[in-house]
Amino acid sequence: MTDLTSPAAGRDDNLDVSLRPSGFAEFVGQAAARANLEVFIEAARQRGAALDHVLFVGPPGLGKTTLAQIISRELGVGFRATSGPVIAKAGDLAALLTNLEDRDVLFIDEIHRLSPAIEEILYPAMEDFQLDLIIGEGPAARSVRIDLARFTLVGATTRAGLLTTPLRDRFGIPVRLNFYTPEELVLIVQRGARLLGMPMAQDGAMEIARRSRGTPRIAGRLLRRVTDFALVDGSGEITRSIADKALLRLDVDARGLDQLDRRYLSTIADFYDGGPVGIETIAAALSEPRDAIEEIVEPYLLQQGFIQRTPRGRMLTGAAFQHLGKTVPQGFVG
Ligand code: ADP
Repeated sequence: MTDLTSPAAGRDDNLDVSLRPSGFAEFVGQAAARANLEVFIEAARQRGAALDHVLFVGPPGLGKTTLAQIISRELGVGFRATSGPVIAKAGDLAALLTNLEDRDVLFIDEIHRLSPAIEEILYPAMEDFQLDLIIGEGPAARSVRIDLARFTLVGATTRAGLLTTPLRDRFGIPVRLNFYTPEELVLIVQRGARLLGMPMAQDGAMEIARRSRGTPRIAGRLLRRVTDFALVDGSGEITRSIADKALLRLDVDARGLDQLDRRYLSTIADFYDGGPVGIETIAAALSEPRDAIEEIVEPYLLQQGFIQRTPRGRMLTGAAFQHLGKTVPQGFVG
C-alpha cells in the first residue's frame, strides 16, 4: 500500500490547511453515532459530570481521533492524547492521569496495544478514579493510592475483539464507526476543496469520493493530490476528467482499490484459484504483516463484496474476478 492510499495517519495529514472538522456541525456522516454522542454529551454537561468512558471501534482514518477532539470541545474541557504503544511504563500512565483536570478527555489511540501491566493500572483509574502505584522495590516497596480527577477516557481501536474483556467492559459508551458512503464523502471532499480554495465540479467531487475506500483520511489526501494536478496540468478546476487522470496516475483504480488491494486479490485468484486460503499464507505471499492485511486491506474488500471470510480461509467473490478482468475458474463457488 502506498503512503497515499494508506488509511493510516501520515505526514500529509497535518499540513497548513487542516481539513479536520472542529465540531459536530462540520462532521459529516456516522449519523447514529453522532446523535447518541450528542445526547450523552448534553446530559453530562447538564449534570456537570464527566462523560462516561467512550470506546471508538473502526478501521483507521474514519474519524476516531477527530470525534475524541470534538467531544472535548463540546464539553468545554481539556484534551490530552497518547497511544497504546507509547505508554511503556506505569510511570508514563501515572504522569498522564495525575495531570488531568476534572472532566478532561484523555484519548488513547490503539488502546489494544497497552501492555497487560498498564491495563491493570487503568482499571481502577477508569472505575473509581484512583491510581494504585507501587513505590520502591523489594521489602521496602509500598503501595500508595492517589485520587484522580473524574476524567473521560476515550479509547480507539481498529477491532473490538483485540481488547481484553475487562477493558472493553469498562467503557460505558461503545461506538462503532463504519465506512462512509460516496455521498457522504462528496460532502467531505467539497468542504475540503472550499478550505483549500480550489474550485471543483460536482462530478469531480464524486470521482474522488468513489475512489477513497470509504475513508475520509484517504479522501483528504486524494483531494490534495488531485488539486496539485488541477493546478499544474489542468484548468485550475477539479473536473471529473482531471480527477480520473490524476487518480490513475496515482494508481488508484476506478473502485478506489490501490496496488496492495489488487495484489491481494490477484494473489488469491492466480495462485489459489480464488481460495479458500488462510490469512497467514496470504500475508507471506504478499510479504506484508498479517495485522496490516486484517486491519487495513480486508475490511474494505469485505465491505465492497470482493472477498468472503470462511472457516477455511479467505475466498474471492465473482465480483472480484470481474474487477480484475479475469474469468472465474471452472467449478468455483465463491
Ligand atoms: P482515525 O483516528 O479514525 O484514524 P482521524 O480522526 O484521524 O481518523 O481522521 C482522519 C482524517 O479524516 C482527519 O484529518 C479529518 O480531516 C478527516 N475526517 C475524519 N472524519 C471526518 C468526517 N466525518 N468529516 C470530515 N472529515 C473527516
